[in-house]
Formats: sequence, structure tokens, C-alpha cells
Amino acid sequence: MGECAHMLDDGGCKILPDRRQSNQNLDPKRPEGDIVITKPVGQGGANVYDDVYNIQYGLDQVAPIDGGPSPQLVIDGLCGPKTIGAIRNFQKKHFGYAGCDGRIDPDKQTLKKLNELRNRNVFPTIPLSLKTDGFLLAGMMQHVPHIRACVHAAMTNISLAMNVVDSTLPGMLGASRESRMRLLNKHFRTDNFKGAKRPVLQKMYDNYSCMLNVLDRPEAFTTLDTTNEGETISTVAFARLGGFHDKNDLTGKIVFRRGVLFATGIPDFAAFIFIHELRHYVARDGAQGHFAKGWVTDPGMLALKEDKTVLNCDTFAGFALEAKNGDMQRPPWVRSTVFR
Ligand SMILES: [Zn+2]
Repeated sequence: MGECAHMLDDGGCKILPDRRQSNQNLDPKRPEGDIVITKPVGQGGANVYDDVYNIQYGLDQVAPIDGGPSPQLVIDGLCGPKTIGAIRNFQKKHFGYAGCDGRIDPDKQTLKKLNELRNRNVFPTIPLSLKTDGFLLAGMMQHVPHIRACVHAAMTNISLAMNVVDSTLPGMLGASRESRMRLLNKHFRTDNFKGAKRPVLQKMYDNYSCMLNVLDRPEAFTTLDTTNEGETISTVAFARLGGFHDKNDLTGKIVFRRGVLFATGIPDFAAFIFIHELRHYVARDGAQGHFAKGWVTDPGMLALKEDKTVLNCDTFAGFALEAKNGDMQRPPWVRSTVFR
């Protein structure tokens, strides 16, 4: 299998669709890339319709503080006093009175400056690099103590249940079997498993335990996705399936993307995402982990049978959160999706 086959793009974690491919709302005549003109525009220029149109468009994209027109020009392809005035103002701002002839020539300084300024305003994207965008990783890492506490709470809950799960004795000391199994049954439907249930819980416990190993050294196991230039804010994260156990490929990490910005300010959201990715990352069974997405009370999640819940990433995440926080209202940031 090639690298792509191992990389599990976390489709369920997308926040917004990428709309860049369909700019139907934009004027089809909007100049793409740098503005190019064929003849001079402005005072005494040839003022070819398309050239004027593009210059007007470009000037309107420049902020007034940078010499752009205020109010904005009417973009009509006709070069009148307002367009010439706007060119003069723009030139005065950047080149002083000496460079203020009211005319823009192809490939000269005014056009270069205009392209330089307007490019800032076109399709803004967040730059993503380990040098400049470490704040995204840092924003997630600040929640590691909380995430550890969630994973710990999940392990405690499971270990308490392990002592009673296969017991048929009623009236044990301490908490009843029912109360110890309540959260596990809510999320994983553990009691629906036929036969001995302790091994099932042991496997889940081991999963969470591996997660703690990662959370002990998050800097060794996480990184930013810096390969998708021009990518808009969309996907939150992805992880190499079973990457934690893969001795042949130590480069596989949990990869956070721009979309994670939205989670960095919300501890439980950060925990939900991180634990979801951790479940992919520590998987030994090759299960992709996307049987349903959402909160435990969502229809898609409720429909999962016990053989799927024990593999499902969002189930692991939601269980850990409720083990830590107690029963929660459905958080507004959870996305609900059913996979087939
Ligand atoms: Zn996923």
C-alpha cells in the first residue's frame, strides 16, 4: 500500500466545504491573478474598455488607507474624472506628487504597486507553516492536561466496570453493577456482547492506555499539515491508522490542519478531536473507526451495534468526555454524520 492508503483523511471532521472551486457569486469578469493591461489607462491613455474595467476593479480592492478610492468607483469600464482622480490619489499616496500623472502604463510602477496591494485582498488564506503557525499546535497542546484527564477518567470507569462486568452476583458492596456499567452501556452497549465481556473492556482499556502514551509526549506524535498550500479552513485533523504501532514508519503522526483553530478555544472540543484522532492512531485492529459521527444521543450513533461502537472514534471521544465531565448536553460543535 502506498502512503495515501495509510493516510486516513478524516472526512468526518470537516467543518466547512471548500468553496473555492465554485465562485458563482463572483463577477465572472473579476480579474484573476495580477491585473494586466494592454494600453495605458487614465489621463491621456488609450482607455481600452477591458483595461479600464480591470483597473477600476483593482483600485476598488485597495483600502482607502493604502490609497484606494473612497467611495469606491463604479466599475463600468469607462475612464472619467472619478477614475482618473482615483489613479492620482493612489499615485500620490505611493509615489508623491512627482509620480502623480493620473495614468497607469502596462508594466510600470503604478500597476506593480496596485497588484502588490490588491493581492492581499483576494481569496485570503491562513498561511500554514511550522514556523509561523505553531500557535495552532500550541493552542491544542494547552489542552493536553484536560485531554489526559478525560482519557484517565475513561480508564477509571472501565477498570471499575471490569470487576463487575461478568459477575452474576447481586448486591455487591459499593456501587451496583448497573451504576458501574451505565456509561459504558450508554456509549458502547457493552452488555449486548455475548459471552465474557471482560476481554472487551480490557481491549478498550488498552486503547485508552496507548492514548496516554501519546499524550505524555505530544510533541513527538503530532504535527501541522503544511503540505496543502492554498487549502481553506476545512479539515480539522487526520491520523495515520495504527501509526502508533507501526515500527516501519515512524514518520506517521497525528496531523492537525487549519480547521483546528476553531477547537483551540474550547477544551472539550479540543479533547473530542484529539481523542477521535488518537483512536485512529492507536488502533491495532485496522478498523477505520468511522461508523458514525456525532454525539452519543444522535440517531446515527444510537443505531450503532456493540461490535461497531468498540471501534468508533467518536464513541471513544464522547465516552471519555462524559466519564470526565458527567453527563453532558449535546455540545454545539459536534458534527453528526453516518458512514456506510
Ligand atoms: Zn476520523
